[in-house]
This record gives sequence, structure tokens and C-alpha cells, in this order.
Amino acid sequence: MSDSPEEMVVIAIDGPAGSGKSTVAKLLAERVELPYLDTGAMYRAVTFASIAAGIDPDDADEVTAAAINMDLRMDVDGTVVVNGVDATTQIRGPEVTRAVSSVASHPKVRKELVSRQREWARRNGGGVLEGRDIGTVVFPNATLVIYLTASPEVRAARRAGEVADLDYDTIAAVIARRDALDQNRQADPLKRADGATEIDTTYLTIDEVIDVLVHQLDRALSDSE
Ligand code: C5P
Repeated sequence: MSDSPEEMVVIAIDGPAGSGKSTVAKLLAERVELPYLDTGAMYRAVTFASIAAGIDPDDADEVTAAAINMDLRMDVDGTVVVNGVDATTQIRGPEVTRAVSSVASHPKVRKELVSRQREWARRNGGGVLEGRDIGTVVFPNATLVIYLTASPEVRAARRAGEVADLDYDTIAAVIARRDALDQNRQADPLKRADGATEIDTTYLTIDEVIDVLVHQLDRALSDSE
């Protein structure tokens, strides 16, 4: 398929860990009545499948095969079923989090998941997709391309609020390592897409961010009429 979503509304939201992507993308999707796709959960699912099969996350060929053969179900309530196993909790756990950036660095893994993401949007007639390469690679011609940021301290504090069993310093270090890997990899690194609207969420409430995005979407839609 073409990556030009002319007839469908696609909202691309990228940014580093803890920038507010997931919360914002989910709420925005509800508000504008579009389906929502957490593409990070897809990379986490491949990581889970690889670990379950005893595959080294750095083995590009084996991990690619695991991605291509992966049977993945993602429900609207956030349930993620990987090869018939409910992996909803484990894909967010420390083992998967530690290995996911290696898995996501393999170009053929990315190719497989990007193709599934485009297919998902086509099947749904559009949607809100969040990740690291949505505006740069998956849908560079999306109706709206957003890049969310926040200070490293605020990002770590947000994650610390979500993860009960790790202290702030550990979380800050894990995030910094993952961001460095995601930003410096060869294949589709995390970066702001040309023409993306960058929003620094450090001092904004979720509602304020959503209001900005709804306003931007209205403008983008009326400009395209
Ligand atoms: O969004 P989340 O933190 O769950 O993403 C987990 C990891 O998946 C990221 O750190 C990154 O390595 C990878 N990822 C990616 N491209 C995407 C989404 C996530 O490389 N579109």
C-alpha cells in the first residue's frame, strides 16, 4: 500500500519514553473517535516471543523469524496475546524492557512491524499511532505528525509513578539508556520528523496537551478541504 493516508485520518505521535505519548494518544483517540495503536507494545511482543523461545535479542535472523511468525492480538482494553499467551503484564516487565531496544534495532524486524502497522491503519480506515518512527517512517504523510518531549527528570518521575518496585534513580538510568539506544541506532532512529509539531509536555497537563492536539487536528482537516 502507499504510505499516503489521503482518505484516512492518521495521527502520528512519537517521542522518548515517559514523554506522555501513551496517555495522550489514548485520550486523543477517544476524543476524536479513532482507533489507537501502541506500536511499542508490538516491539515488546516480539521481545517477549523471542525470550520465550530462548532467542538472543541480538540475533537479528532469529529475532526476525520470531517477528514474522508472531501471532499477535491486541485488544482495545490493552490485553496483548502473543502466540496464544496473555503477555499483557510481562511485556511491561524489566526483562522485556531491558531487551526491547536491541530487538527494535534489527531492520527486518522493523520492516515486518511497520508493514503490520500500515495494514492495521488501512483496515481501520485510520487511527492514532504512537511510537518512535511513526512520523518519520510509518506515516510521514499523516494528517497530524506530533513529537512529544519532556525534561528527563519529569519523564523519569512519570515512569516512577507507574512502576511500583523500582526507585527513581534506577528508572532514570533505564530510560536514559533506552533513549540513547533508540536515538543512535542505524535503522529508523527516534527523531523529530520534518514538519512535526513538537510539544514539550514538561509543564502541561494532559488536558492541555489534548486541547492543543484537537485544535491542530481541526486546523489540519480544514486546511485539507
Ligand atoms: O513505547 P515503548 O516504551 O513501549 O516502546 C518500547 C521500545 O520499542 C522502545 O524503547 C523502542 O526501542 C521500540 N520502539 C520502536 N519503534 C516504535 C515503537 C517502539 O523502535 N515505533
